[in-house]
Amino acid sequence: MSSMKTLENLFEETIRDIYYAEKKITKELPKMAKKATSPELKAGFEKHLKETEGHVERLEKIFAMMDKAPRGKTCPAIDGIAEEAKEIIENAADENVLDAGLIAAAQAVEHYEIARYGTLACWAKELGMNDAAKLLEATLKEEKATDMALTRIAESGVNDQALAA
Ligand code: FE
Ligand code: FE
Repeated sequence: MSSMKTLENLFEETIRDIYYAEKKITKELPKMAKKATSPELKAGFEKHLKETEGHVERLEKIFAMMDKAPRGKTCPAIDGIAEEAKEIIENAADENVLDAGLIAAAQAVEHYEIARYGTLACWAKELGMNDAAKLLEATLKEEKATDMALTRIAESGVNDQALAA
């Protein structure tokens, strides 16, 4: 980690963290969409993959605003969540249980992103980077909507079917 003396340093490091995470998510979501058995869940993952590609682009705009080349920094949190998702995919012996597990893994990802973007949007405003704050808030809104959509899918049948498995 480069030395962090200022809030600006911390902001930049955290942008690198979420940039790494978003790129990782663009690789994980297609795998999750492929494994999901509920058509609604599959479509939800595919929709969020497109949004996630937009999140990467927004972060690249923020790097440009800071006159920095886009560069990620390994985020052990997202690597761990992805590792757990992989375990669920490998070990679920019933397709409804698999879907319930995939939703749980995806919600862990969204909650991580919500935490990061909430903080980053707040810091951007603090730093007077209002254009960056707007981009971060736009992504935050999509992460929250995705989290709610996942809850809806879980409650509209996936959990009941997993219970019956
Ligand atoms: Fe995202
Ligand atoms: Fe997301």
